[in-house]
Amino acid sequence: MKLAMVRSAAGTTFDRPRLARVDDQTVQIYPDGAGTLDDYIRKPAPTALTGPSQPAPLDQVTFDAPVRRVNRDILCTGWNYWDHFEEGYGKRGGQDPQERPAHPTFFTKGPHAIVGPTDPIAVDLELAQAWDYEVEIAVIIGTQGRSIPAERAWEHVFGMCVANDMTARDIQRQHGGQWFKGKSIDATMPIGPWVTTMDAIDDPAALELRCLLNGQVLQQARVGQMAFDIPTLIAELSWGMTLYPGDVLLTGTPAGVGYAREPQILLQPGDVLVSEVVGLGRLHNAVQSVPLHEYLR
Ligand code: MG
Repeated sequence: MKLAMVRSAAGTTFDRPRLARVDDQTVQIYPDGAGTLDDYIRKPAPTALTGPSQPAPLDQVTFDAPVRRVNRDILCTGWNYWDHFEEGYGKRGGQDPQERPAHPTFFTKGPHAIVGPTDPIAVDLELAQAWDYEVEIAVIIGTQGRSIPAERAWEHVFGMCVANDMTARDIQRQHGGQWFKGKSIDATMPIGPWVTTMDAIDDPAALELRCLLNGQVLQQARVGQMAFDIPTLIAELSWGMTLYPGDVLLTGTPAGVGYAREPQILLQPGDVLVSEVVGLGRLHNAVQSVPLHEYLR
């Protein structure tokens, strides 16, 4: 199943986004009382969606972010493709590790960064100058667990979608080698367009990610190239730490990010960013100048 939240369809804008199922070129939209996808993910045993729904053509639907009510910060993975780890060497403002990490690198970002799959991405050049893109696969946890062995990890995954871990690199470097601040700017993380449940994904390792800026492919990789595969990420992250239904885990970005390029490519107002995973969908976001600073300093 592909499950989504829909803001408008065929000329009708809903008071609140509606739960929907995407079937190829048709979207089945459920009544307001059906709740949200955040609710559905947290049900003890979510069943296939049934009941009355209203169809709309896919190209006449505007999607909201499929998940918004995350339990805590968005859980994230750093350096999970070695080509991305290595492209940044000497370019991290003195924050390079000595060698490849033996365990995954985790951090979090604030949930207020979430925007929908076609929303503008906020960029404020007074706030930061080095705005960068990072296409990633987001894993949505469906079943609670602690110290989950890798071989049982998929049993705890509800589904997957596309996200972009957009980053203000200059802010990232300014705050003591941690990543929270530079990756938590308001309205900078598109996610969606829908969540594909695991029964509809044949081989997660074969999924291919791409990021395009103004039509130019800047990142392209397969999930199978991850330094630590998704079951290993879940095993390591849940080691002594409970994961809950609705937790969102970003799984890292491949090589090709803007700051590591020569010359650098930094996002500017007017740019169009496309983040996609073949089979999981595509995010299409305009980069827009939005004042986020309240005073000059
Ligand atoms: Mg990232």
